[in-house]
Order: sequence, then structure tokens, then C-alpha cells
Amino acid sequence: RAKAAGGGCHHFFEKEMDRQAQRRRDMERDLRHAFARGEFDLHYQPLIDLAEDRVSGFEALLRWHHPERGMVSPADFIPIAEDIGLIVGLGEWVLRQACLEAARWPNDVKIAVNLSPVQFRSRNLVQVVISALAQSGLSPRRLELEITESLFLADSEANLATLHQLRSLGVRISMDDFGTGYSSLSYLRSFPFDKIKIDRSFVKDLTERPDCLAIVRAIAGLGRSLNITTLAEGVETVEQLDALRAEGCHEVQGFLFSPARPAAEIAGLLMKFGHAASKAA
Ligand code: C2E
Ligand code: MG
Ligand code: MG
Ligand code: MG
Repeated sequence: RAKAAGGGCHHFFEKEMDRQAQRRRDMERDLRHAFARGEFDLHYQPLIDLAEDRVSGFEALLRWHHPERGMVSPADFIPIAEDIGLIVGLGEWVLRQACLEAARWPNDVKIAVNLSPVQFRSRNLVQVVISALAQSGLSPRRLELEITESLFLADSEANLATLHQLRSLGVRISMDDFGTGYSSLSYLRSFPFDKIKIDRSFVKDLTERPDCLAIVRAIAGLGRSLNITTLAEGVETVEQLDALRAEGCHEVQGFLFSPARPAAEIAGLLMKFGHAASKAA
């Protein structure tokens, strides 16, 4: 009996693995067609400056409207797009689209764009950024490029050189999801980041867990001493907002203010959060 059950189990897992492999192949195939079919779209989430009490910019976040699956999370499709090399062209489209959109906003409102480490391997990233700025007429000062610590894991000499080139254009460089990677502190020494984005996981339990508060406090202090702007991601409650303000975080971003919304809603968001951001929330 045990043998039979074991065999059944084995069979079940094989089937399950087949199913997952098939789903992955389907996703790859659909991703390759998604661009031509116009299924990608950018949404924008406001970044709030706490001292000035208003929107300092928006983060561009990629959305994929799959014809059958509906909205697919970037957390699910970006890794696949990276594996199949699609992220290079897709990331270029994101950059150009985000710059074109931001060029229409008031000129003190910035745009933050996420970059994949794979885009750095493509080698012409700097040319693409120069071209996106020229084509849109956006001032480089208004563009923030978000990178993660994983960029420093491989090929870090070449990637550092690219980062310096990008920064010499006048664009700003942010360290995204700070605290989730490896030995973060050494990266702060190897490159002059303009902004640290404190990962949502530390903000989530900020008001219940003293260790999370201690970490946020340490990062905010680090930012102050190194003269780097600190932003807290994933702010969902007024209690979190108050704690982050008390710790001296410069900026916040989260559902308490707004999730990422389509470009057509930017004007409304600017109106809502333009001047009394934290009061309005
Ligand atoms: P990220 O760059 O850290 O972006 C912030 C993520 O946190 C977004 O998820 C946003 O919707 C979510 N978020 C913001 N506020 C809150 C909150 O209060 N609560 C919760 N629960 N979530 C919040 P999203 O849009 O699903 O994107 C996930 C990740 O996918 C991004 O994380 C980024 O790493 C990647 N991504 C998105 N768009 C792009 C892109 O254009 N290029 C690249 N390379 N990666 C992208
Ligand atoms: Mg980001
Ligand atoms: Mg982030
Ligand atoms: Mg994150």
C-alpha cells in the first residue's frame, strides 16, 4: 500500500512540475507578444516630501494587462522578462515613456524609474538614458533611477562605471529596497547615492516591532550623516507615517497616500497631494 501511495505521490509531483513548466512556457510566449499587442502600461505612485508636505515625484511602475489572466504582477513577470532578455527593450520603453510623461508635469515634480541589473549588461544604457532625456526634453535633474543591491553582485566594476556615467549626466541614483540585499553598507561607500529607499518589510511592522523601528532609525540616521535622502516604502497607516516623521525620514510612499495610478490621474493626484500631502491623508 505504502508503495502504491508513494508511486501516486511521485506521479502527482511530476504532474505538478509539468504544469508549472507549462505555465512558465506560456508566460514566456505571452510576454514576447505582449509588447506588440500593447498590453503594457505605466502606472505612477506619488512620493511625498514630508518637510514640504507635498508630492516630490512619482515612481513609474510597469503593468501588464494579460488578455486572459488579467493584471499580472511585475514581481511575477519581471524575473521572466529578465531571463529571456526581454527586459532590455521593455526597460527602454519604460524609460522613454516615463520621461515623455514627466515632461508634461510641473517642473519641480520628479520621475523615478526602476532599472534591472540586466539593463546594465546591455552596455548602451547610458546612450538610452541620454536619448530618452533628449527626446522628451526632460531635465536630467528630474530623473531618478532606482537600482537594487543585486547590481553589485556581478560585474560590479563595469556597473559602477556605468552608474558614475549616469550620474555625471545629472540624473539621480536611488538605492531601492534597502536592507534586503547583502552587506548593504559597503555599497553606500562605493557609490554616492542620492536616495535610500527603506524596504517595505521594515515599515510594515514599524509600530509593533522594536527591532524594525531600530533599523529604520539607524537607516534614517545614516542618511542624515551621509547627506542622502531617505524614503520609506509601503506606508499604509497614519501610525507608521507619524513614526517615520519622528525618525526624520525625508519622504514616504505608500497606499496611505495612493497606489500607483494611470497617467490620466496624475493631475488629480497633484491637486490632492500638491500642497498639503500628509494632511490630506
Ligand atoms: P519597487 O520598485 O520596490 O516598487 C514598489 C512596490 O511596492 C510596487 O509594487 C508598489 O505598488 C508597492 N507598494 C507601494 N506602496 C505600497 C503599500 O503601501 N503597501 C503595499 N503592500 N505595497 C506597496 P509593484 O508595482 O507590484 O512592483 C513590484 C516590483 O516590480 C517593484 O518594486 C520593482 O522592483 C519591479 N518593477 C516594477 N516596475 C518595473 C519596471 O518598470 N522595471 C523594472 N526593472 N522593475 C520594475
Ligand atoms: Mg522602485
Ligand atoms: Mg522599492
Ligand atoms: Mg520594494
